[in-house]
Amino acid sequence: MDVKTRLHEIAHVRYGLELSQCSDSQLYHALLQLTQELSAARPAPEGARKLYYFSAEFLIGKLLSNNLLALGIFDEVSQALTQCGKSLSAVEDMEPEPSLGNGGLGRLAACFLDSIAALGLPGDGVGLNYHYGLFKQEFHLSHQFEQPNPWIEDESWLIPTGVEFEVPFAFGPVKAKLLDIAVPGAHSGVANRLHLFDVENPAAPPADGIDFDKSDLPAHLTSFLYPDDSDEEGRLLRVYQQYFMVSAGAQLILKELAERGYGPEALGDHVAIQINDTHPSMVIPELVRLLTARGLSMDAAVAQVSKTCAYTNHTILAEALEKWPLAFIEKVAPQLVPIIRELDARAKAAHPDPKVAILQGEAGKELVHMAHMDIHYGYSVNGVAALHTDILKSSELRHFYDIYPAKFNNKTNGVTLRRWLEVCNPQLAALLDECVGPEWRRDPARLSKLMDYYNDSAVLEKLLSIKSANKRFASDVFARDQYGIRLDPEAVFDIQVKRLHEYKRQQMNALYVIHKYLEIKAGQLPPRPITVIFGAKAAPAYVMAKHIIHLILCLRRLIESDPQVRPWLHVAMVENYNVTWAERLIPACDISEQISLASKEASGTGNMKFMANGAVTLGTLDGANVEIAELVGPDNIYTFGAGSNYVIELVKQRDAGLKPGYQPDVYYQRPAVKPLVDFLGDPALVALGDREALKALWTDLITKDWFMALLDVEAYIAARDRAVADYGDRTAWARKMLVNTARSGYFSSDRTIAEYNRDIWRLK
Ligand SMILES: *Cc1c(COP(=O)(O)O)cnc(C)c1O
Repeated sequence: MDVKTRLHEIAHVRYGLELSQCSDSQLYHALLQLTQELSAARPAPEGARKLYYFSAEFLIGKLLSNNLLALGIFDEVSQALTQCGKSLSAVEDMEPEPSLGNGGLGRLAACFLDSIAALGLPGDGVGLNYHYGLFKQEFHLSHQFEQPNPWIEDESWLIPTGVEFEVPFAFGPVKAKLLDIAVPGAHSGVANRLHLFDVENPAAPPADGIDFDKSDLPAHLTSFLYPDDSDEEGRLLRVYQQYFMVSAGAQLILKELAERGYGPEALGDHVAIQINDTHPSMVIPELVRLLTARGLSMDAAVAQVSKTCAYTNHTILAEALEKWPLAFIEKVAPQLVPIIRELDARAKAAHPDPKVAILQGEAGKELVHMAHMDIHYGYSVNGVAALHTDILKSSELRHFYDIYPAKFNNKTNGVTLRRWLEVCNPQLAALLDECVGPEWRRDPARLSKLMDYYNDSAVLEKLLSIKSANKRFASDVFARDQYGIRLDPEAVFDIQVKRLHEYKRQQMNALYVIHKYLEIKAGQLPPRPITVIFGAKAAPAYVMAKHIIHLILCLRRLIESDPQVRPWLHVAMVENYNVTWAERLIPACDISEQISLASKEASGTGNMKFMANGAVTLGTLDGANVEIAELVGPDNIYTFGAGSNYVIELVKQRDAGLKPGYQPDVYYQRPAVKPLVDFLGDPALVALGDREALKALWTDLITKDWFMALLDVEAYIAARDRAVADYGDRTAWARKMLVNTARSGYFSSDRTIAEYNRDIWRLK
């Protein structure tokens, strides 16, 4: 039966209606059913080994369009709806966005699942089914508030499997129920799975806000991703969640291994586990425990686990490298403690250097250094961009690199161009079909053929008109969904959307806004109107990040209420930035803000999405920006600021208390900088906001400025002003757009996954 007939039939059976009579919500549920049926009919890929990608987060976004595309029925369904007066995008508005991730790390996991399936490789995700997500962000009085984000409806993408495992916590066993989300692969005809574990009786959402009784277990094990860890109960809950995920996941692996006809002694030959950052690291001792329980000797169990597990490092920020008190693990899963002690003793016997120990600290207060466990007992350690991997080898993990040089490898991140170009920017995708042929959709390297049109004025014009259309679309959605706030589609769209963190330096972007505001007030107008768009969630307990959001929202109000400034400068901040917002904003972007302090952003993936959609990067030479700069050349990117070697040197001096270190006051005193920072105390701004919050941010900037915004702000302003001026030469700018899209094929996650498979997983 063809797809259209089946869709009509589903509508008929479910509602007794013709498609044209169905509401958008009914159509959404009919399409959900159709998509689920087609995915379920697909076989799982086979191979010598099977991959399990363990991650605390999967920021998968809405699935309808993505799955229709992967199933090869996007156009057919879209036409069927148009024929009866409906639109797929209106139908997709009915879909709630799953709230299973936080930022780049979770989105990477989602892109990887998409590419693994598209390449026809056997690989499933393993994670948790959070009911209330990260949190839903709301703004009131220019402050962030957090609310639960319940996203699971009666009918959803979650498929009950009937599979259950018992997770042996110290307080008693807890049943882990397995739910699956199908991951159909584009072009491959197969489907993998995202395995999400859940408790049997999940807790109801907290009445207001995201505070809840963290000791109420097991009900709250799958309530929230990253519960507030500013107190001990919150940190302990994270350990409970992690053990719940890895114990159930490890049992699933051994069950499937047995079903494939292999015993536990063959684990390493038939299974690969990728540990996405340190959250799933307890899978190592848990697997050792399960293998020894199944009769393997300790030596054999350790050998198998070490042939199975591979670790991806995502950050060099010390506060993000998890070190759990051994006492927590004793409290949660005491059966792991002797195993961790054994793993530590073996590592210490082979490598006495205390810097590489797993257990650190005096007896009774020992900390388990999760990354160290991963490196000793994993067979691969990878960073996520060339610069990041170099920094791991030469400084952060140097002592490990000396011991295990062959384990280290780089895998520069990627993004699935199916979601981040085909689905989110159909007009550009269609133009690319015309110019380079539709083969780019299977083989993104072919995008480079777009370079042939560098001097083709018709193509350059089209690129500009597609960008304009995307800006108008984003403006309309923005006006509809964000309290009627209008964006000016004629202005330069300058966008910084990503989690809020001081190292990503939204505060430096805000200083540029202040700079422009003061210039305009002084009668010095920019060459054209500028719209600065932010989107970011701050972790609930991250006070300085919340102060930065407050500053941005106050600046927005100040500028909106000033008729002298308003025609030239806009500031907008989307509430509850998520994948859906990213899909609307990225195709509409002119200038992509990637301004982290050099050495601190491991890779970034937002930068890649913007590049593919023809935005020009304004960035530091950090993470994958370095590789973007190499690919597009200096005329097609704006780079500025201190380089990573210099920053690493400054940080070393600061940590050692040596002079000169970094002294923000020196930069604050510069005549171009002081007025910008002092504007945080300007009566007009303070009148709109919270004096204490603005004061705290001001004080932090001039005394600590941990991520050195003042070091780079002058160079940043100069580079950004240059980009805004260059935007005026429309042909030259269109060429920059063209080069960025043409060179973005390298950042397809299909390329990244092919490399993981070739160098690490060897699935088939
Ligand atoms: C891509 C993406 C990110 C990661 O952005 P970075 O700029 O790499 O930090 C975060 N959130 C969402 C919703 C994304 O789509």
